[in-house]
Amino acid sequence: MAAYESHIDEQQRREIHAVAEEHADTRMGHINSTASGGGVAEILVSVVPLLNDVGVDTDWQVMDADDEFFEVTKTIHNGLQGGQTELTEDMRETYRSVTIENAEALDERYDVLVLHDPQTLGMAPTLAERFPETALVWRCHIDLTDATPAYLEFVQSYLDPIDRAVFTLPEYGEAITGVEIDTIYPSIDPLTEKNRPIEELSGDAAEAADLERFPFDTDRPLIVQVSRFDPWKDPLGVIEAYRDVSASIPDAQLALVGAMPDDDPEGVEVYREVEAEAGDDPDIHLLTNLPDAGINGLQWGADLVLQKSLREGFALTVSEALWKETPVVGANVGGIPLQIEDGENGYLIEPRDIESTADRVVRLLEDDQLRRRLGENGRETVREQFLTPRQVLDYLTLLSAAEG
Ligand code: UDP
Repeated sequence: MAAYESHIDEQQRREIHAVAEEHADTRMGHINSTASGGGVAEILVSVVPLLNDVGVDTDWQVMDADDEFFEVTKTIHNGLQGGQTELTEDMRETYRSVTIENAEALDERYDVLVLHDPQTLGMAPTLAERFPETALVWRCHIDLTDATPAYLEFVQSYLDPIDRAVFTLPEYGEAITGVEIDTIYPSIDPLTEKNRPIEELSGDAAEAADLERFPFDTDRPLIVQVSRFDPWKDPLGVIEAYRDVSASIPDAQLALVGAMPDDDPEGVEVYREVEAEAGDDPDIHLLTNLPDAGINGLQWGADLVLQKSLREGFALTVSEALWKETPVVGANVGGIPLQIEDGENGYLIEPRDIESTADRVVRLLEDDQLRRRLGENGRETVREQFLTPRQVLDYLTLLSAAEG
């Protein structure tokens, strides 16, 4: 925790230590489905060591499962977001047997056990039988608002032994019944290569973060969106808004930054569409597969960041940019309005509203002082609410609720 102390205020530090002290004898476990890759692993990598550091014995275990199981859980994930593929008897059986095997193999006893996402939820009934004293928490990182009913029923059928469920926003879990719902916002880690000050990077990371090595002109205005190539992130809308902006600010440049997903055919298709839409405009840059330090450099170096999503979970990219004192023009969806206060650290626009998006972007690009003020406010927003220590405090508070 000492490494984070320059990023948190005295009151938060004291609160963390006080609640942690109440749980000096608590054993906490987390189970998820992968040790790396994906947002859940990223959160656990930061949060688990910190919980141990403040004195709460916290363990992280990863499920043992094969591709067949993950095919099934991907279908479940999609169904919970509105996908219509049928969940067959065979698929249910694969899910059931693998989750039971994992629950039977667990050889540690915890006071509070957090099962992350639908992959691990099936372990709950067996765990409840084996460890009746353990409080079981389901941390669902998915928004269930538009879940297909069959998938919602499937999840609901495993919730009986669950004591509490945790969602990113309370409304994401409104459709489930019979469990207490808590909310924990995600957070960003200020000590990682993605979020540290650029001056602290060295070697390859410093080189990757150096804006001079990117193909645009660093003396001209730069608008950046960092997002997977996904229709819900509205990359085509970003280009449309950028074209409107260019009419008033002809030297503006746009960078669309996203991973090129080799294993995601939809992502490749969206990338091709974006490429076609960008055409031969020399001021639209599609940048793929950048290392974290490269993302860091762009989020610091951009004059403003766009997050023009049509739908969002939380949008970590917003906090990442705000932390770097870069104002964000973001859509009023999902977790974005939690992070952006209109006119204070950026602007909120209605999804699909190209005209307002362009208007807010022009307003910012034309006013250095406004950008600076909003940028400074943005860093404060993130410091207060969206850094890892706050999430650690939320998990400690969850322990109190689960044990209470
Ligand atoms: N990201 C990245 N490289 C990319 C695009 C995205 O590292 O090319 C990161 C981004 O910095 C953020 C995460 O992926 O940390 C995306 O999280 P977010 O909550 O914004 O969106 P999601 O992809 O989960 O919908």
